[in-house]
Amino acid sequence: MSLAFERPRRRMVAEQLVTRGITDSRVLDAMSTVPRHMFVDVALASHAYQDSSLPIGEGQTISQPYMVGKMTQLLALKGHERVLEIGTGCGYQTAVLSRLCRRVYSIERIPSLHERARHNLRAARHANVMLKCGDGTEGWDEYAPFDAILVAAGGGKVPEAWLHQLCEGGVLVMPVGRQGEHVLVRFRKLGGTWSEEYFDACTFVPLVHG
Ligand code: SAH
Repeated sequence: MSLAFERPRRRMVAEQLVTRGITDSRVLDAMSTVPRHMFVDVALASHAYQDSSLPIGEGQTISQPYMVGKMTQLLALKGHERVLEIGTGCGYQTAVLSRLCRRVYSIERIPSLHERARHNLRAARHANVMLKCGDGTEGWDEYAPFDAILVAAGGGKVPEAWLHQLCEGGVLVMPVGRQGEHVLVRFRKLGGTWSEEYFDACTFVPLVHG
């Protein structure tokens, strides 16, 4: 099954990730293995490994492979972490994360995408993933604190709940800014306050409150 599209997947890793500075070998291995074509519509499967985002329905998109690699690398996961993801979408980023940490808790607000991710992740046999349909800006108190938070939708401000639900020393990666003009930011929670590091300019679908 995952042998299908193996060559385009390897080419994606070599040409889109390695050449642009994705060096974490665990991230490269995960993205060499997760069958991205299984997370998009059958009609788009042959485009799944191209250097772009793709529509997944409901006006949402699966992120460009490089962005998935970059955001994941910024979390610097070692394997023991519990990670909160906001914006499950089709579940591709969730699948990549699930290979790199202990457990992923992922929230999607659109019911049809939530269901689709559940189906996709089951088909790809990812057992260490918990999915929830709801407003991710409230986080997931029941399972907090998290070692890391990855936000796959762009917004202006980090919601309070996420700050509370992150471990001391934990990191949160999010596209921050106005619509169409985001920049990737890595926040680190230290002594009750935040440090911020700025990375690539990017464009994400908006983080919707409520
Ligand atoms: N990583 C996903 C990208 C999905 S696009 C993938 O690989 O497919 C971002 C997703 O964030 C969209 O599905 C959108 O519905 C969702 N989203 C936006 N605001 C949200 C919120 N407040 N809570 C949960 N999900 C949200």
